[in-house]
Formats: sequence, structure tokens, C-alpha cells
Amino acid sequence: MADRTVIALGGNAISPAGTAGTAAEQTDNIWRTMRQVAALVEHGLTELILTHGNGPQVGNVLIKNELAKHVVPPVPLDWCVAQTQATIGFTIASTLSHELAVRGVTQPVVPVVSRVLVAADDPGFTAPSKPIGPYLTDADEVAEREAEGQHFARQGERGWRRVVASPEPLVSVDRAAVELLLDDGAIVVANGGGGIPVVTDGDGPLRGIEAVIDKDLAGARLAEELSAVSFVILTDVPAVAVGYGTSDQRWLGAVTVDELRGLQRDGHFSVGSMGPKVEAVCRFVERTGGRAAIASLDDAVAAAEGTAGTQVRVGR
Ligand code: ADP
Ligand code: MG
Repeated sequence: MADRTVIALGGNAISPAGTAGTAAEQTDNIWRTMRQVAALVEHGLTELILTHGNGPQVGNVLIKNELAKHVVPPVPLDWCVAQTQATIGFTIASTLSHELAVRGVTQPVVPVVSRVLVAADDPGFTAPSKPIGPYLTDADEVAEREAEGQHFARQGERGWRRVVASPEPLVSVDRAAVELLLDDGAIVVANGGGGIPVVTDGDGPLRGIEAVIDKDLAGARLAEELSAVSFVILTDVPAVAVGYGTSDQRWLGAVTVDELRGLQRDGHFSVGSMGPKVEAVCRFVERTGGRAAIASLDDAVAAAEGTAGTQVRVGR
């Protein structure tokens, strides 16, 4: 367990902005990312867990739901997450296995369809705020879908977007399976898209629920549960910035978790993007004493080795 590392891959690892997102494009992007991951393994990383986002992919399933709802029943959000875990997981497994084989590594890669427990009374369910799916510009369509029970929020000039709960990840339900696979030498893909949100229903089976869990928070939770020593978030900026997008912008290198919390309190990190990443790395470092990083996908190896991006530790 000496080097057990959880790596969270952002949207541009799979479907960068400006691409149509065909299956072939997504496969090529994942393949490119997996070359980096394979390089990490080649450098000697032995215990690796990957997690990934799924926003655009779930968005596509939701569009199909709406277009086809008079022909086949729409599937709930937990099913959408499960479907995207499968397609992304299978593509990661295929491309990473190939890249490992090219390097003479025989570790199996196993995607786990994984559930994450949330509280049925999480405040997110009474005030849904996480925007998902396409922008809508037709007020009649919004009204029709609100009548069907969906919630919408105005997003400025661009129209309305469906909003859902983004509850706190409490427990990675399939953690024990992940652990068995790691113990047997596998590289595991888990909690993809934040995990399939489930709640307990008394005596019955765990039940999927309409929500999406933040993938960085779910990744941090899993890293904590697995006693990982390192948690790395790879995204499309080189590091965390203070004064992001202003003339005073400054990239953060090595910081203590207390310093990062201070900047978070000062409001440097946007709610829908860098905010949850900063929260996720702070939680991991505070709860485990381990090391976390937020870095560019292009610097994956250096980020995991502790020399690129924003590196977060308890102390200096
Ligand atoms: P991913 O899809 O990789 O999970 P997001 O798109 O949600 O990531 O978040 C990454 C984005 O956060 C960056 O592209 C950047 O535009 C934005 N961002 C907002 N605030 C900051 C900040 N303080 N420092 C760096 N990036 C920031
Ligand atoms: Mg993104």
C-alpha cells in the first residue's frame, strides 16, 4: 500500500471542449490519457485507482431520454451514471491494458460499476442546484418538463438548465470489491461520474436516486476509505490559481492545507469548477495526512510524483 494513489480524471481527459464527442473521439482522448497513466505505472506506481467525470456523457443520455420519451420510457439519472461508468470504464480498460502491454506490464485493469451512498435527506434534494444536460431556450418546454417533476434554473443569457441534487458522498458501497481487486494486483476504475447515487430503504436493497455526486468529492472519499497515500486531480489548467482570470492571477505550487483553506474562505475558487476540487483535496489531506495535487492532465507523471501543479500537504 506504500504508493496507493487515486487519480481523478476531468472532462478533458475524455471529451475536451470543442470536440463533438463521437465514440471514436472519446476513445482517442481516453487513449491519449491512458498513455500518461501507463507511463506512471512504468515509473513504478503499483497501486492505482482511477476515477473520472461523466458530465457530457450523462448530458447526451438525457437528450436521448427526452427525444425518445414518447417511444421508450426514459431512464432515471442513476441509470444514466451506471451506463456512462460502463462505457467509459470499458474504454479505459481497453486502451490502458494496451498501453501497459506495450510497456511489458501485465496488471489487469478492472472497471467496477460502483455505487455511492448518500443521505435521503441531504439538503441537495430540497434545493437542487447542480445544472445538468443541455441549455433550453423554449419556456414552454421548460414548463412541460417542470410539470413532469423536473426542476430548472435560469442560466443567464443562455436559457434554462435542469438542476438536480448533488448530495454529499457518504460511503463508497463497493469499496470492499475495489480493495479485493487492488490486493490481487489490478488497476481499478471506480466511483466514475461520482458513483451511482443510492440511498437505504430500510430492509430493501439499496435504491438508486435522481442525483449526481461530484466526482472530485467522491474520489476524495474513496481515497480516504482506501487509505491512499496520494490523491491527484487532473484537469485542464496547470494548477489552482488565486485571482483566476484577473491580471493578478497567480498559480499555486506547494501549499499547506491550512493555507489553501484560507484562500478558499477568501472566495478564490468558483462553485461549479475549482471549488469542489479544492474542497476535495482539503478533505483528503485533513482526514488522512496524505498528499494531494491538482494539476494538468499533461503533467500527470510529475503531478503524481509531487513536482507539478498545486501540491497540498499538511505542513511544509
Ligand atoms: P474537470 O472537468 O476537469 O473536472 P472543471 O471544468 O470542472 O474540471 O474545472 C476546471 C476549470 O476550473 C478550469 O478550466 C478553470 O477554467 C476553472 N477555474 C475556476 N476557478 C479557478 C481557479 N481559481 N484556478 C484554476 N482554475 C479555475
Ligand atoms: Mg470541465
